[in-house]
Amino acid sequence: MPQVAVIGAGIVGASAAHRLWQAGAAVTLIDNGAPGGATAAGAGILATISSRATDLETAGFRFQAARYHLELAANCEAVGLTGHSYAPVGPLTVAFDDGQADELHREMDRSLQLVRTFGAASVGSPQWLSANDIRSRHPLVAPTTGGL
Ligand SMILES: Cc1cc2nc3c(=O)[nH]c(=O)nc-3n(C[C@H](O)[C@H](O)[C@H](O)COP(=O)(O)OP(=O)(O)OC[C@H]3O[C@@H](n4cnc5c(N)ncnc54)[C@H](O)[C@@H]3O)c2cc1C
Repeated sequence: MPQVAVIGAGIVGASAAHRLWQAGAAVTLIDNGAPGGATAAGAGILATISSRATDLETAGFRFQAARYHLELAANCEAVGLTGHSYAPVGPLTVAFDDGQADELHREMDRSLQLVRTFGAASVGSPQWLSANDIRSRHPLVAPTTGGL
């Protein structure tokens, strides 16, 4: 069995260690606990649609990461690690005037194109919400002309 030491237990080192362990290696994950680790500070948001990076290579990597996290969460649960906080949720972007609504409709078209290319399982299911839909879901939001 190969013996591997991974230095740095942030998300990158921990992911590498996990994959190596799955592949059959005996892995030791080492961290010096120095302040400033980005993983401890990160909000943990996997932005799929909302990211402004639209090139196919970047988008493909992002959607692969989103799909992988579903698999990772299921794997964690299967071995009894149920305390993770991974949850697929949707962002809401609202328009307060017709100009903003036009821009959001263009963003919706771009998102639907990404769904056609990468599939809803990776990208999510973009939906246009009317002003009333938004008011009923989020009563505290000021009156809008719709949202995505
Ligand atoms: C405030 C904030 C918010 C963020 N929010 C998001 C977000 O919502 N979504 C998102 O995708 N990304 C977010 N990011 C970015 C994301 O957190 C980082 O890109 C990611 O965590 C980097 O992971 P890493 O494993 O490369 O580095 P780190 O998490 O920094 O891990 C490196 C580890 O190596 C250890 N180390 C360093 N040197 C040594 C050594 N010589 N010996 C042993 N150990 C060592 C450190 O202690 C550390 O634990 C955010 C970042 C910040 C700062």
